[in-house]
Amino acid sequence: MNKKQKKTLARIILSAVIMIVLNFLPLTDVLRFTAYLVPYLIVGYDVLIKAWKGIIKGHGMDECFLMAVATIGAIVLAVISSGDYTEAVAVMLFYQVGELFQAYAVNRSRKSISDLMDIRPDYANIEIDGRIERVDPYEVEVGSTIVILPGEKVPLDGIVAEGDSTLNTSALTGESVPREVFAGDDIISGSINLNKVLKVTTTKEFDESTASKIIELVEDSGSRKSNYEAFISKFARIYTPSVVYGAIALALLPPLFQTFVMGINGQWTSFLYRALTFLVISCPCALVVSIPLSFFAGIGSASRNGILVKGSNFMEILSNTRYIAFDKTGTLTKGVFEVDAIHHSPIGEKELLRYAALVESSSSHPIAESLRRSYGGNIDRSEVSEIEELSGKGIIGSVDGKRIAVGNTKLMDFIGVKYLPCHHVGTIIHVAADRDYLGHIVISDQPKENSAKAINLLHKIGIRKTVMLTGDAENIAAKIASEMKVDSYVSELLPVDKVKEVEKLLAEKSSPSEVLAFVGDGINDAPVLARSDIGIAMGAMGTDAAIEAADVVLMDDDPLKIPLAIRISKKCLRIVRENIVFSLAVKGACLLLGAIGIANMWLAVFADVGVMVIAVLNSVRALRIRQYQEG
Ligand code: ADP
Ligand code: MG
Repeated sequence: MNKKQKKTLARIILSAVIMIVLNFLPLTDVLRFTAYLVPYLIVGYDVLIKAWKGIIKGHGMDECFLMAVATIGAIVLAVISSGDYTEAVAVMLFYQVGELFQAYAVNRSRKSISDLMDIRPDYANIEIDGRIERVDPYEVEVGSTIVILPGEKVPLDGIVAEGDSTLNTSALTGESVPREVFAGDDIISGSINLNKVLKVTTTKEFDESTASKIIELVEDSGSRKSNYEAFISKFARIYTPSVVYGAIALALLPPLFQTFVMGINGQWTSFLYRALTFLVISCPCALVVSIPLSFFAGIGSASRNGILVKGSNFMEILSNTRYIAFDKTGTLTKGVFEVDAIHHSPIGEKELLRYAALVESSSSHPIAESLRRSYGGNIDRSEVSEIEELSGKGIIGSVDGKRIAVGNTKLMDFIGVKYLPCHHVGTIIHVAADRDYLGHIVISDQPKENSAKAINLLHKIGIRKTVMLTGDAENIAAKIASEMKVDSYVSELLPVDKVKEVEKLLAEKSSPSEVLAFVGDGINDAPVLARSDIGIAMGAMGTDAAIEAADVVLMDDDPLKIPLAIRISKKCLRIVRENIVFSLAVKGACLLLGAIGIANMWLAVFADVGVMVIAVLNSVRALRIRQYQEG
């Protein structure tokens, strides 16, 4: 509890004690009125001030206004007839108890998100003349060597240059098993170095590093509102004034009717009392508070599991997912290719690989990376020039005065070189120099461990159709698709074709509320990520463009996070709907009882605060969704 909340609690207790004591004192008239004013003002002065400010600023009628009118009305009634001031004090008291509870719950869930913010690094260590110096991570340039001591946070993304250690990545990925890293491995900022000293060569500036990106995403997520939230704030704007007019009508019309039509004495005070009760019951705080809180908790729970959802609206969309299209390389498969064979090379295998590695020297495609790795030798970038990457086809560059083309059959057709077909199942990379065919390299990729399991789970939780869209060759696509048990696949697609396929799927939907998600790594699929109803990107392997274009980012590239994300969003939306139905039902029933004079103000304030407490507790449940349990 923070200071302000403690102060409110103290006021509540003090006021309650005074009220109870006053009950035993035989006070009358003015003395009684003044005495009860003390606990009333102690607990309610801020509500009265807020209500007053709301009126003069023209903000209209908010819940403070409702409470102020209801309690002042109750005091007026006490003065003119009953003399029972406890009611007014009690209504204010319970209202404040509810407010306090709500502030506490909101703070708690904010805290669980700010725990995630704990990944924000404060400094980086740089070694200068054998001494370690702490600097602001903003000042570290790309390519610098930083030292990370055991127990420290990794401040910037980079590659381990020296040393090996274990990293705790749980704040980023929700994965509690520590990850081992060795020289040459990528490491991302925000993870914690557990046991040994690491020297790391930075690959990104602070602003571009993973930790900064995540913090930025989570901080922005609150600004994108779901339809439900928009509905609630619109609802409150219309609802509160209509309740006030309803209350005025209830206070005036029946007694007027009694006096002038029925010709009996109008029950003025009785109907005024009912009208005030009506005001207390109708306070919409349960909805106004609990709906944003549910989304907030849902997003928090997702981020604790390594899933970044960029706004409440995406929670809502995600929960309606019925179709999912997947990219293959880097999404369902690891995107780490191994060279299996080299065929028909007149210039020798080593030389063929050298050409390929040189032309691929600056591409970020997983195929490029694997060709460079399997060549193994030093790659002198100055030997290549005029590199041109043709997405979905391959890459061309000049080496030794020749135009070297490295890519698939589409690329060979494009440059008009006759190639030899390959009968191996695998991704075939053809190489040509000017008009001469130099042979091909057969490479293969492994499916991720969890891909098939994830697809199976997706079908179980109600996904109607899964499709794999790939730029790779037909035979390898067929093999992966049958291993993964996706419902269908389309191969040999250029990035624009992927967009067309997604548009076909969009047209297949039987209602606009059904959602098509696309999952990709951003390599040749950023346009589809943006075109689908919701884009899910692989965050670790994925490109910055993908993370930018996507609405949901999976921090550790684990396909199992897709069903988990959908499950979290469904639970979150179910809680939102429960809260709306429950609050409106209870309010409706109480309003009816209040109007016919059965409910008194005590019941009213219990109903109001009680509904809010239950709704808020229900919202907080959205925080507690953990890793996927099978079954
Ligand atoms: P996927 O849809 O499986 O992720 P891409 O669209 O990234 O595949 O690429 C499709 C195909 O285009 C690859 O299988 C490969 O044949 C070819 N290709 C793309 N980029 C390159 C490259 N840099 N070097 C060689 N071949 C490439
Ligand atoms: Mg890809």
